[in-house]
Amino acid sequence: MAILALHHVCPGMIWGINRLTPGQLRRFLHAALEAGVSFVTLSGSLRSSGLQTGGTRAVLTFDDGYASVERWALPVLQEFGVVATVFVLPFYSGAFNTWDVNWFGQRVRHLDWRQIGRLQDAGWEIGSHGLSHRDLSLLDPTACETELSLSRRLIQRRIGAPVHSVAYPFGNASVETLEAAERVGYRSGVVLSRTLGGGHSVLNLTRIGVYGFDTPAVFVQKCLGKNRVFYHFIQRCIDICSDGTVLVKQRVPEIRRKGL
Ligand SMILES: [Zn+2]
Repeated sequence: MAILALHHVCPGMIWGINRLTPGQLRRFLHAALEAGVSFVTLSGSLRSSGLQTGGTRAVLTFDDGYASVERWALPVLQEFGVVATVFVLPFYSGAFNTWDVNWFGQRVRHLDWRQIGRLQDAGWEIGSHGLSHRDLSLLDPTACETELSLSRRLIQRRIGAPVHSVAYPFGNASVETLEAAERVGYRSGVVLSRTLGGGHSVLNLTRIGVYGFDTPAVFVQKCLGKNRVFYHFIQRCIDICSDGTVLVKQRVPEIRRKGL
């Protein structure tokens, strides 16, 4: 079973490689379904097949809960009868993004609770991405547990259903993060290309990113778990670059403030 990580879906320009157009997503899903891939939510996949590798099942996950997911991805997935898992942040509900690098002043809004409700009504799984997109692996144990626990409780209260899954912000998790996730009641957790050794595998599931430069054939390969080593290598390189851009964003105001 492959777990794929997506972010933006919209026809307008979003700088970066994390955006698919609705047309691209439509071509990707068409090709995958033609190849025999079936899509389930993350919790649904663990309920029905456990952690089996290979096979034709795949999970689509959307990180960061961008509003474009409800506006543009939902209708495309509904065309094909496909559901997904979206990871949202209660502190960013309906607000503009602040942690990503806003190239050329672009402003990107997150899902509000009404939109999250529409995704839930369409059969999507709603998961947590923490409260405020902090790197949980760098937080002290209390702050880490608060991010995991409070975000879960706030989302559950809003959607009126249990939250079983978490995507660790920046795809980062330490052993302590995984232990905290287990303690506060998550049943599954996803990272990006990074993996930790040892147990907790169900709370440390690796994903493959889907990018604007992918072709339908590449998307199908990712869904079927083919060329995993190669795609994980590419993913790792992209993770390192993305960590770098966020670091630049955090450092630039500091450098300006200090007049360096
Ligand atoms: Zn994120």
